[in-house]
Amino acid sequence: MKNIRVRFAPSPTGPLHMGGVRTALFNYLFAKQKGGKIILRIEDTDQTRYAPGAESYIKESLTWTGIDFDEGKNGKGDFGPYKQSERKEIYQKYIRELIDKGKAYYAFDTPEDLEKKRKEYEAAGKHFMYNQETRHEMVNSLNMDEDEWKKRIENGEPYVIRFKIPDNVEIKMTDLIRGDISVQSGTLDDKVLMKSDGLPTYHLANIVDDHLMQISHVIRGEEWLPSLPLHYLLYEAFGWERPEFAHLPLILKPTGKGKLSKRDGVKMGFPVFPLEWKDKKTGEIYAGYREEGYFPESFVNLLALVGWNPGTEQEIFTMEELIKLFDLSRVNKSGAKFDPEKTKWFQHQHLQRKSVDELVELFLPILKKKLGYIVQGKAIREYTKKVIELLKERATFVKDFWEQGAFFYVTPEEYDAKTVKKQWKTDTPELMKEVANVLKDIKTWEAAAIKENLSLWINRKGIGFGKVMQPIRLSLVGALKGPDLFVIMEMLGKKETLNRIEKAINKLQNR
Ligand code: GLU
Repeated sequence: MKNIRVRFAPSPTGPLHMGGVRTALFNYLFAKQKGGKIILRIEDTDQTRYAPGAESYIKESLTWTGIDFDEGKNGKGDFGPYKQSERKEIYQKYIRELIDKGKAYYAFDTPEDLEKKRKEYEAAGKHFMYNQETRHEMVNSLNMDEDEWKKRIENGEPYVIRFKIPDNVEIKMTDLIRGDISVQSGTLDDKVLMKSDGLPTYHLANIVDDHLMQISHVIRGEEWLPSLPLHYLLYEAFGWERPEFAHLPLILKPTGKGKLSKRDGVKMGFPVFPLEWKDKKTGEIYAGYREEGYFPESFVNLLALVGWNPGTEQEIFTMEELIKLFDLSRVNKSGAKFDPEKTKWFQHQHLQRKSVDELVELFLPILKKKLGYIVQGKAIREYTKKVIELLKERATFVKDFWEQGAFFYVTPEEYDAKTVKKQWKTDTPELMKEVANVLKDIKTWEAAAIKENLSLWINRKGIGFGKVMQPIRLSLVGALKGPDLFVIMEMLGKKETLNRIEKAINKLQNR
């Protein structure tokens, strides 16, 4: 069996959409499972669509996701250069080969000529295609003496090079996901292979590079399926062995209607990009999974299940498991509806799988930023460990530890207005003063002891538990949230607990 070599070949025309990351991921899983190689190739021959910053964005996204390349990363490898703009001479050589074989021809039609033709056809209710029906009536080397087209080229007349699609043949193709497909060559047009600026189009560069880089399997998005017949014909024209092809289903909008777009993300409030992207032209900022707080492993996991399933009920996977289980034959043919609601569930699951120690390491930098000072030392680490143990089960993102537990670190300055209205009655300040006295007398400041003493006092007083506990919670947390109140008190310590109660009495009594 030949060596397995796959490639991910993005064009730096903008940020990498999550669909692009999924293509890279499926290539990666396929290669790793089979002991093959994965190559990164930058397809940047379309200078008009080049977006500054896109190439580094793509590379950073792939690195963040954990998709590692065997070749092409930093341009290294035996089959380079891995950037098409650095391979211009190579394409020149191969286009000449096609011309010499009579498989491609020079076309001198100006944009105006072409527009005129299109209009003529339209007026006759037809659609113009540059193909076997029309090429004889156009300005190209097929309809001229060699002297003439050579002279035109010498005179610097602009031209493109078109592929001569063979007349009336049936092109029979096989796709690893879709099975057998067949197309009549008459339905295809003579695609431009070389533009007037001397740069190849996607089709030529892509085929030449896949061949020279010895790619065994082309795994790419469904939007390239219509190009497959042309690619088959190009391999045939060169007399090269073809790689195998697999076209991945589109990622559809949550409604299932149409392709998932960046606009959907903005409208519905979920990221469609791995990393945040700032559009330099419009200034618009698009959310990224990384910045929203997703772990790369959660992102990889949720992407893997868009259009693929393992055939079991299992939904949570590590990259290693995906490498073992991935199978192209379990990739769906039809478009995969994206479920933005479920993304958080994946993240929640992956956070639950992390140890408290790992989470402490991830949370400390956030804490440092929030507090505005350096958090150092064993004590804060131990304390934070307890905070995370208490909050982990309900947390989805690392940032939730701050959102749900800031009160463990800072005294509340504000109190939730609704709760104050409902829970802080005229007799509450008096009660809180008594509570403070009860707490002051507690010798061992531990949750159990605090609970016992307070309960005893409440029972003796014959009042409802909530009448006391809710205002205490409000004083310590600032809202009616957080874990067990006695545990919170133990964590805060006696002094801080009493301070917060006193502060609440002072701040809330003159409402
Ligand atoms: N440069 C193409 C893209 O951006 C690659 C298509 C292919 O994989 O053949 O999608």
